[in-house]
Amino acid sequence: MPPIDVIEKRLNQYRAENEKNKDINCIISDLYDLAFNKYKDFSDKQINGRLYGKLFAVKDNINIKDYPTTCASKILKKHNSIYTATAIKRIENAGGLVVAKTNLDEFAMGSSNEYSIFGVSKNPNNLNYVCGGSSGGSAAAVSARIVDVALGSDTGGSVRQPASFCGVYGLKPTYGRISRHGLTAFASSFDQIGIFSNELNDLVDTFEVISGQDYNDCTSSKIKNNPFDYSESETKKMKIGIPKEYLESNSLNSQVKNKIDSMIKFFNKNNFIVKDISLPLTKKCISVYYILSTAEAASNLSRYDGVIYGSRDNASNIKTMYKNTRSLGFGEEVKRRIILGTFILSSGYYDSFYNKALKVRRLIKNDFLKAFTDIDIILTPTSPSSAFKIGEKINDPIKMYLSDIYTVPMSLAGLPAMNFPCGYDTNGLPIGLQLTSNQFQENKIFALSKFIDDNFN
Ligand code: GLN
Repeated sequence: MPPIDVIEKRLNQYRAENEKNKDINCIISDLYDLAFNKYKDFSDKQINGRLYGKLFAVKDNINIKDYPTTCASKILKKHNSIYTATAIKRIENAGGLVVAKTNLDEFAMGSSNEYSIFGVSKNPNNLNYVCGGSSGGSAAAVSARIVDVALGSDTGGSVRQPASFCGVYGLKPTYGRISRHGLTAFASSFDQIGIFSNELNDLVDTFEVISGQDYNDCTSSKIKNNPFDYSESETKKMKIGIPKEYLESNSLNSQVKNKIDSMIKFFNKNNFIVKDISLPLTKKCISVYYILSTAEAASNLSRYDGVIYGSRDNASNIKTMYKNTRSLGFGEEVKRRIILGTFILSSGYYDSFYNKALKVRRLIKNDFLKAFTDIDIILTPTSPSSAFKIGEKINDPIKMYLSDIYTVPMSLAGLPAMNFPCGYDTNGLPIGLQLTSNQFQENKIFALSKFIDDNFN
């Protein structure tokens, strides 16, 4: 029998912090009772588990059996999950407590958490600013210290960008590293569950617990992950690449650029080899990402037609039923993407858009692989700016899409990348930078990040 007083204390801490931070609007369903009841039945293995007693929040597009998974969409508002995601099961088996589901952009499409039927989730550092998206609620819940760790999903940056806006760590692992079983599909060749935390070791612990092959996800990789060695003696031999195209962008804010410059100085001072590299197709990444991800989204979201999942709007015939259900159930941004994706996949345009974008995706990946023959880690901004004001980009979807410029390239290439918090701008808003490694080399990211955490100030 586990020591109830210890865990009650933890759960009550979560309750108190959640209550205190209600204005942030990051938690959309409270799982206190579920966590408490599960805890009562914890086995010795769970009590001695690596994540014992840690508080977790989970983006509301990841399934927990018998509990709602809304994806912040009207169409799934009343939907209860019929099974539990592999990542959640692994957290619970290791003694973690999943206490809350978090706010997001509808179906994980967005960069500001403003496209949610639950209303915008705000930035804990300043409530007039967005917390980023689409996993904004998870980033905010960690940043406000309501929970220790949160899961999100990252298709084109939705873990890294909100992590940078909220000033926390945010990892998107290598494609295939963490099972997608139980994660609601947006664009399946990009989607990955990612992790937010305030402390690097919590992120590493969670990563090691939830990663690894899963027979329920045939895209999960069997490549083994060696446990991260905190004494990493090889760290200082790493070569760091700075892609020149990333710093040439007009949209890069000068304070973010200054952070990159001070990080380069720091690396030089510590005798790392820092090299300029070139990723020539950087400018194409946004278009390629939005062509491929909307095509995949249009296909994935065709399942919400009022027949099996979620809400149904009755009509006298089935066609009108589909039409009414989807017209009323999806929000504006999701509809925009379904329409765009359907157009891209339509005969006559398939070859000129979809097939061409697939080819460019391969070339983008090749550029990265070539760069990694000579370097270990790429340092870049995570986002061109710190958090923007609520409402600032909502009427201009292209502007919103362009804010993903530094995160979509790694998603196209399936590479692991992590935001680490790197101080504040003059408005007191966090700035984050991004470390990217070659496939399945998350440990290099952790090692360099630990070195920065220990030595940079
Ligand atoms: N902001 C990107 C988009 O809107 C990324 C989304 C994501 O990673 N889920 O598509």
